Amino acid sequence: MSKLALQAVSKSFGSLEIIPPLDLTVEHGEFCALVGPSGCGKSTLLRIIAGLEPATSGRVLVDGEDVTGAEPPERGVAMVFQSYALYPHMNVSANIGFGLKIARRAADEIRQKVDAAAEKLRLDALLARMPRELSGGQRQRVAIGRAITRDPKIFLLDEPLSNLDAALRGGMRVEIARLRQSLDATMIYVTHDQVEAMTLADRIVVMNKGRIEQIGAPMDLYHKPANRFVAGFIGSPS
Ligand code: ADP
Ligand code: MG
Repeated sequence: MSKLALQAVSKSFGSLEIIPPLDLTVEHGEFCALVGPSGCGKSTLLRIIAGLEPATSGRVLVDGEDVTGAEPPERGVAMVFQSYALYPHMNVSANIGFGLKIARRAADEIRQKVDAAAEKLRLDALLARMPRELSGGQRQRVAIGRAITRDPKIFLLDEPLSNLDAALRGGMRVEIARLRQSLDATMIYVTHDQVEAMTLADRIVVMNKGRIEQIGAPMDLYHKPANRFVAGFIGSPS
């Protein structure tokens, strides 16, 4: 059974159809990169999966269960945004544990989950630091840590590295690969960066104007692009 299935999911804003009915299945443990030009609907699609935006039509299934109308915390889906806001007056530990705190989890459970997340993200030594004392890459790891404390079954990352400079991005790419190994989660990773998609993903989903142009393993897309758009986007040799 697929971990995530989108069945004829569409989205319109007013009379403007941003995403025509679209099907997508992502398997358990799979790491999918979602790529496509700015404005093609990637963030909107993630927000629909996370339950932050209602679909205009269609169904969202997690483990075969219809979650189309479910509230975000009931879906087992966590999302990390491009602009990750940390609370400036809280240390790293409090930032990571904040979601659990507002969910009124017990203090020792929060501590244990924060420690586990910090270990996965190599933030153990930084738990007492304040956000202003962190680098951009460390801050992004804290934002990821906050999301993984909820033990998501599906983990959505929306261009998490795009605010980082090129040098930091290289290091974070390694962190994402490590995280992927240590999490028992299905991941959808939106990126602008072809290198990231090619090196990190099991499959790449190429989107254009709300439609999926092609889905496949990185090397299949590279060597057998379905059309010129995919070839151009993936950088296939012509
Ligand atoms: P991407 O993440 O691929 O850059 P988005 O999903 O953010 O694209 O946006 C897809 C399209 O939907 C864009 O044309 C954008 O302007 C439009 N859009 C997104 N959110 C809204 C909204 N709340 N109201 C109206 N249009 C929106
Ligand atoms: Mg976006």
